[in-house]
Amino acid sequence: MTPAWVGLGANLGNANATLEAAMHDLAGLPRTVLRRRSSLYRTAPLDASGPDFINAVAALDTALDAQDLLAHLQTIEARHGRVRTYRNAPRTLDLDLLLFGGSVIATAELTVPHPRMAARAFVLAPLLEVSPDIVIPGMGPAASLLAGLGAQPIVRLGEPTS
Ligand code: ADP
Ligand code: MG
Repeated sequence: MTPAWVGLGANLGNANATLEAAMHDLAGLPRTVLRRRSSLYRTAPLDASGPDFINAVAALDTALDAQDLLAHLQTIEARHGRVRTYRNAPRTLDLDLLLFGGSVIATAELTVPHPRMAARAFVLAPLLEVSPDIVIPGMGPAASLLAGLGAQPIVRLGEPTS
């Protein structure tokens, strides 16, 4: 089994309910265990338009390879009505593969660690909630990265409900 971390985000429709449903879907993936999930966090869009984002992170253990896991994430996005329009468009559900063990992956479909995660408090804060000591390959400890970011207003919406 490989530890994998997935970032969840939504800013259309009932974003909280969508993320709760997506957590349930992640827990049901084949050959995969949902180990920990963060609280939900709310942030104003960073380089996107539209309503506030709700974000969270899931820590998985999986026997899937990274490419198969990404395909499953895209199936879950589609199930929740994601329509791909343009980059950073408002979306009902965005699932990003943040980390896959200590792997560094650079293929046409998949870049791991996720290239923008180190600059995003709405990824690092929930990631640190589930894995306080995590080190991002090639980037350093997530705690140091978050401490080095300028202010990005982010609100933790309470304890995980499951
Ligand atoms: P973003 O999440 O940056 O707003 P999208 O979700 O629209 O952008 O981008 C999805 C595309 O990004 C997919 O086609 C997928 O192949 C590619 N991709 C590359 N690396 C990753 C990753 N680590 N996690 C999720 N998608 C990735
Ligand atoms: Mg994405």
